Amino acid sequence: RRGQSSGGGQQIAVPGVKAIIAVASGKGGVGKSTTATNLALAFARQGLKTGILDADIYGPSQPRMMGVTGRPESPDGKRLRPLENFGVKVMSMGFLVAEDTPMIWRGPMVQSAIQQMLRDVEWGELDMLVVDMPPGTGDAQLTLAQQVPLSGSVIITTPQDIALLDAKKGLNMFRKVDVPVFGIVENMSYFLCPHCGERSDIFSAGGGRREAEKLGTELLGEIPLDMVIRETSDGGQPVVISHPDSDHAKAYLRIAEHV
Ligand code: ADP
Repeated sequence: RRGQSSGGGQQIAVPGVKAIIAVASGKGGVGKSTTATNLALAFARQGLKTGILDADIYGPSQPRMMGVTGRPESPDGKRLRPLENFGVKVMSMGFLVAEDTPMIWRGPMVQSAIQQMLRDVEWGELDMLVVDMPPGTGDAQLTLAQQVPLSGSVIITTPQDIALLDAKKGLNMFRKVDVPVFGIVENMSYFLCPHCGERSDIFSAGGGRREAEKLGTELLGEIPLDMVIRETSDGGQPVVISHPDSDHAKAYLRIAEHV
């Protein structure tokens, strides 16, 4: 399933990069970046040469989540060398502008920034490049899905998001440009109490699976709302690395196996 893209649009392959996977969401704050990070680290644990392209230009999270800071060098004065942590290469607008700089670019500039991060970066040989997409399913995301040679996509939702049909919009967006959707990940699916470990199905259980079936796609995983995920991801020590034997890490590894 990870073969070269079957998508339409003006797509030119990225030399040396075997597969590019988009991690997308209908809106912000649902855990798209957290999932992209842990998924990339899960691919790396499978022995795949992996990179992350942080295409969330307006709110780049990968420097923080991957625990990398610094400025990418350009040894040849043309292409940037990605930064690296945990064996995964990372490129993000967050490396190129100060964290408190507001991004007031218009659509075309965002598109060209993403194309540059895709093509003017020394990714080297990669089995898997994970693209942390900008949140939403508007024109910018559609253009991106069209212009990046995607092998497939994963859509992140929360139980509320599913109810609002945001996942459906994401699915339709990728289908419109002939990019296969590997499935849905339901994030913050249930609550795990940090004190007693009890599971609470705050939004009632099973919604993700039912919706995935209705939409004709797969439910790749259900990730709980858990303090450990938040602390590790915001602290630059993602759970797949810091708690490699935990149920959470296993859940991300299972998702990686299905992609
Ligand atoms: P998005 O990329 O969709 O905007 P993020 O991945 O940045 O979302 O997540 C938003 C916030 O929620 C972050 O602080 C992150 O650590 C936290 N978060 C994401 N997923 C979980 C989870 N399963 N459990 C607890 N906190 C989470």
